[in-house]
Amino acid sequence: MTLKAVKGFKDILPEEAKRRQRLESVARKVFESCGLEEIRTPILEKTEVFARGIGEHTDIVEKEMYTFEDRNGQLLTLRPEATAGILRAVLEHKLYNQSPLLKLYTMGPMFRHERPQKGRLRQFHQFNVEYIGSSSPLADAEVIFLAYEIVSAFADEDDLLLEVNSLGCPECRPLHRKDLLLFLNNNKDDLCEDCQRRAELNPLRVFDCKNEDCQSVLKFAPVIKHYICPECASHMGKVLDALEAFGIPFVQNAYLVRGLDYYKRTTFELKARGLGAQSTVAAGGRYDGLSTLLDGPDLPGVGMAVGVERLLLLMQEEARPRQTDLFIAALGSEARTEALYWLGYLRRNGLKVEYSLEDKSLKAQMKQADRAGARYCLIVGEREMDEEEAILRNMETKEQETLELDDLPEVLLEKTKS
Ligand code: ATP
Ligand code: MG
Repeated sequence: MTLKAVKGFKDILPEEAKRRQRLESVARKVFESCGLEEIRTPILEKTEVFARGIGEHTDIVEKEMYTFEDRNGQLLTLRPEATAGILRAVLEHKLYNQSPLLKLYTMGPMFRHERPQKGRLRQFHQFNVEYIGSSSPLADAEVIFLAYEIVSAFADEDDLLLEVNSLGCPECRPLHRKDLLLFLNNNKDDLCEDCQRRAELNPLRVFDCKNEDCQSVLKFAPVIKHYICPECASHMGKVLDALEAFGIPFVQNAYLVRGLDYYKRTTFELKARGLGAQSTVAAGGRYDGLSTLLDGPDLPGVGMAVGVERLLLLMQEEARPRQTDLFIAALGSEARTEALYWLGYLRRNGLKVEYSLEDKSLKAQMKQADRAGARYCLIVGEREMDEEEAILRNMETKEQETLELDDLPEVLLEKTKS
């Protein structure tokens, strides 16, 4: 039996890698245009970083993390999300001393032990943005803008739905929590087991339940909207005004909560039609309390994550066909040695050039040139070497011309550049 990849872990084959490169280059452009800088943190962190940061009683920490002891008995976890690790790095290196506002992005794999299905893997990838140091509602709006810009570059804007909510703050949340608990207790028998458990540990999380029976009960539950303090309400108002000014359509969803405990005030999800059950492409929110949970100074922050696999599902474009500027078909040892020199010169000058690693027949090499999508093919055999010339064939028009070997690489560079 041949070995297979681990369930939920997927190989990214060249065709898909090309499509991902395209996503990454668009995302990078958007990030750079907003003045963000890249940060890369390890994919492995001490378990504590996530347990403390994300919250003990969240789905992620309770049942989705890849956690293990290493050979020294240290408890480690493959990162299930980016924010906690990035904040850990910001605190460890005191980056906040360098600038009052850090605008960071990262791209890379995340790991969660969930049931694999369309748009849900165990190793998946995200583009992440963190604005650390600003309490301004404009920071929230800019982070949402970034998510919208990236996703709308690959999806029809009419298929996108941006949902926004405020989760309140430590001032106003307890009032809501009290009433919510009362409601959940009164309706306990109509809730799924998970929700009954959440009601005790982390009541707000019930709103994230995907069970339809629970949803129909929770429609009548008290929502935070009616409890938020004037400061939170004003903050929300300013975020929404800024979204309008950015020209980004949104709806308010009073039932929207997120699966991580550290969120405060603004929370959002960007959904796309056509993705089935896993419709959320990007999500995020404000996490002002996270820094102190990780023993740092009281740094406000807001961030978001784009799910790359879901973005890939939305992306209509096909990978561009393979293209090579020039294929060198050299026959015989003398020509093949000379070809290595041309190859080096042309590649260093930015041309995409290929040749055959095997000393094959001309027919076989021409076939290879076709497969490589070569625009031009240079043919040099023993006879051509003797006469100090080579044949350049335009693979589209089939026209051929004879070139002198003398200044061949320079001439090739000129001819194939256009
Ligand atoms: P969901 O409700 O789909 O489980 P989530 O709330 O757990 O999402 P976040 O932690 O907010 O997701 O992650 C942000 C984004 O990362 C999601 O909106 C989604 O696009 C993507 N994502 C999350 N988990 C997975 C996964 N297992 N496979 C692929 N993409 C994922
Ligand atoms: Mg999840």
